[in-house]
Amino acid sequence: MDKKTILVWFRNDLRIHDNEILLRAVERSQTIVPVYCFDPRYFIETELGTQKTGVLRAAFLRENVAALQKDLQALGGDLIITQGYPEKLLPQIAEKYDVDEVYHHREVAYEETKISALVEAALWKMQINLRHFIGHTLYHKEDLPFPIKDIPDAFATFRKKTERESSIRPELGRPDAIYIPEGMDTGHLPELSELGFPNAAIEEAVHLHFHGGERVALQHMGTFLHNNQGTLGYSHLSPYIAIGALSPNTFYHAIKGAENITLDKKRVEQIILKLLWRDYYRFMFKKHGNQFFQAGGLTGNPPETLADDKKLFEKWKTGTTGHPIVDSSMKELNETGHINHHQRVIVATYLIHQLKVDWLKGAAWFEEKLLDYGPASNYGSWAHAAGVGTSVKDNKPADIKKLSIQFYPKTSAVVG
Ligand SMILES: Cc1cc2nc3c(=O)[nH]c(=O)nc-3n(C[C@H](O)[C@H](O)[C@H](O)COP(=O)(O)OP(=O)(O)OC[C@H]3O[C@@H](n4cnc5c(N)ncnc54)[C@H](O)[C@@H]3O)c2cc1C
Repeated sequence: MDKKTILVWFRNDLRIHDNEILLRAVERSQTIVPVYCFDPRYFIETELGTQKTGVLRAAFLRENVAALQKDLQALGGDLIITQGYPEKLLPQIAEKYDVDEVYHHREVAYEETKISALVEAALWKMQINLRHFIGHTLYHKEDLPFPIKDIPDAFATFRKKTERESSIRPELGRPDAIYIPEGMDTGHLPELSELGFPNAAIEEAVHLHFHGGERVALQHMGTFLHNNQGTLGYSHLSPYIAIGALSPNTFYHAIKGAENITLDKKRVEQIILKLLWRDYYRFMFKKHGNQFFQAGGLTGNPPETLADDKKLFEKWKTGTTGHPIVDSSMKELNETGHINHHQRVIVATYLIHQLKVDWLKGAAWFEEKLLDYGPASNYGSWAHAAGVGTSVKDNKPADIKKLSIQFYPKTSAVVG
């Protein structure tokens, strides 16, 4: 074993199990320095007047970071929790603990990759290498049957080729013990007020509907697999997958393990298909980058919008449009930070095609509110709802009436 110190920079990978950066750092070093930075860039107001991170996701994030610290402590380690720009803080920590190398998981969206580049440049000045790992997807980028630039835009083709020509890696183990520098200063977990939230907002986050942490995520997954169904068959695991408390790989292997025991083959295929959609959006973000943040998306033809859509957007946001399913879904989103896939499709389609409001505003509202917010899944899904996404066949508005009757038969009778 090399006698070196590796800094493990946690971002959206807040777990011990199946975490390559943690496992490799432990294998290749004598001591590791685990760090999480609350980056102020994620706690600001956007140009559209929404918050980049709403109070519910911030509270959920705090719980996940606190849980990670506890889990690291249980293995003999700990977690440095800081607040500030990673490109400033990580070099300071690296210097303090005589770090030889920094490990992190590569992200795909512009803002996240830009932050990595800033950290890389700052560390480079100290002749410290930032090593990138790929660990957010079910299929490893290196195992795909095509380079990113040649990934088929059509989801059906992507799926067919990937499933036929690639395979999913086995789950990684977890370290048995973690060694950290003696007397490591662990900082403190910032309060919501320190992250900039006013008291009125903080009160909203007193009763979280989802609690954070890897143990909660694994328990939740166990219950879902055991009980088989969940509400309408949804696992509600996305907040944990998005923040990395649960890896898609662990979920996949657990589903396969439950096949023909508590889950039939068809259900297993359905869940894997959904995880594949998640991969697809991430790979499309890598391929097409910032086009997802433009109203014209991939086609350059944005849907028609009203010149003054302010009032309509306000009604949609607050769940006061008069459409019962849209309104109850938006209220549920605002209160809990989560709604199921069909509710998302319905409210997005309604905003874009019925109210004719700019879809980027809807996507920004979801960005603020969703506990499972991820740039690729969110903006990729919104682009499809707006008809400007990557997969031409999926660029069509959903049939709200049909979905309503199928999933909300009682309420849809009111809608007519
Ligand atoms: C407008 C819109 C915005 C969305 N924004 C997000 C987002 O920011 N983050 C996010 O994770 N998902 C997003 N989705 C996809 C999907 O709605 C959620 O992943 C799903 O509702 C999560 O609930 P679940 O965990 O019960 O999913 P399950 O049905 O149990 O699915 C299992 C897992 O597969 C993944 N998944 C399921 N469906 C999709 C999908 N269509 N696309 C991508 N991944 C999927 C999730 O990680 C999920 O946890 C969005 C969908 C729409 C229509």
